[in-house]
Amino acid sequence: MAENFSFYNSLTRSVEPFVPLVPGKVSMYTCGPTVYHYAHIGNIRTYIMQDVLVKALEYAGYDVKRVMNITDVGHLSSDADTGEDKMLTGAKREHKTVMEIARFYTDAFFKDFQAVGNKMPDVTEPATACIPEFIHMIEVLLEKGFAYKAGGNIYFDTSKLTDYYVFSSAIEKEQLEVGVRDDVEEDTNKKNKTDFVLWFTKSKFEDQALKWDSPWGVGYPGWHIECSCISMKHLGDRLDIHCGGVDNMFPHHTNEIAQSESYLGHKWCNYWFHSNHLNDRAGKMSKSKGAVLTVSLLQEKGYDPLVYRFFCLQSHYRKPLEFSFDVLDSNVQVFNKLIKRVAELKNDGAVDENVKAEFEGKFRDAVSNDLNTSMAITVLYDALKADTNDATKLALVESFDRVLSLDLIGHARALSEGTDVDPELARYVEEQIAKRAEAKKARDFATADAIRDELLKKGVEIKDTREGVKWQII
Ligand SMILES: [Zn+2]
Repeated sequence: MAENFSFYNSLTRSVEPFVPLVPGKVSMYTCGPTVYHYAHIGNIRTYIMQDVLVKALEYAGYDVKRVMNITDVGHLSSDADTGEDKMLTGAKREHKTVMEIARFYTDAFFKDFQAVGNKMPDVTEPATACIPEFIHMIEVLLEKGFAYKAGGNIYFDTSKLTDYYVFSSAIEKEQLEVGVRDDVEEDTNKKNKTDFVLWFTKSKFEDQALKWDSPWGVGYPGWHIECSCISMKHLGDRLDIHCGGVDNMFPHHTNEIAQSESYLGHKWCNYWFHSNHLNDRAGKMSKSKGAVLTVSLLQEKGYDPLVYRFFCLQSHYRKPLEFSFDVLDSNVQVFNKLIKRVAELKNDGAVDENVKAEFEGKFRDAVSNDLNTSMAITVLYDALKADTNDATKLALVESFDRVLSLDLIGHARALSEGTDVDPELARYVEEQIAKRAEAKKARDFATADAIRDELLKKGVEIKDTREGVKWQII
């Protein structure tokens, strides 16, 4: 029996009790990556919070089916229908074919996605595998009068809708209208400024890499159509939850709703789950700002990716979160202490089922209340402090980790066995020790000390002994 579960629905702008279409079951769709570049840690934050949503629903007793698309059709460099083909830009930059680029970045994405403890979606579907479905939906939209042909392209006619700006308040709507009006590159084929392309046969750039036959000529789909089609293909005509970043609300999700509901003739998705940005000190993290900070890069710098997850879980998904290496370093220390406490627990007899049920109830209440992950972590600490035996505490850690996914038991076991060293971290530490030895040889003691201090910040203590330099996780 599934328990009560509430979260913020962007459609109604309020925290609402979740009522699924089919009791006990959840259909969930997630906008996936555009595979022309690496996903930065801000994108990964969004996927961590969605993973927590899946696991929190499962913890509350629901059976979740989750579908994700992979945008491997070259789409335009801005959310508006202007700009250049991102896939082709990536291919040119790296002297690869477009499909090589897509495969490479898809693999890189799912490596980082899983490294932070995320469970793979039940279905992942590349857009290039669904071209006939896109064409069918566009044909229906044309038949029903929601779409028109102009200048060789097919456009969605937003003036046919009574409420297009579904996610926006009156003030936001006004700002968005001004934004759309001020768009630099104006497409004169559009009847209304907010109309968007469903199928291109002619675009502002002529060298689109991937093209397909269609009733309207050789071309390629617009971006928004893929999420509507891929969702319906695997989850049917009605959807419980659609997830994405706040950036996706306009125009992407707004357009998804417009075309889906016009196609279906009824409401499509009941709940919209949006998570907020990750900022660095310079502002919102984005790909266009040069070097991309990825999970793999954090690993190369000696960080455990699950510490990044731990950092994300301590803040609410609807608030912007500021990232810095100083904050990550302090999280390393807090995380290591937590592991140490778990490692000290002995399997000392029978689990006290009453105490276990009491804390599991508190934990479920926290994650079922608009995904209050920081409260869930507080419940974990409270359980570790509770007046009960270690066996009960171990059972609770294991139980909570079904949602937190911090591999607490695995880390603790490795610590007890003296093997709690991530190979990436070990490689990094050895590298730093070699650098320190060189600095000492050159009598550059300031650098040598700086390296020692930097390792200490990451929870690694080095000691000079007669047998050479020894190190340990503290
Ligand atoms: Zn999408």
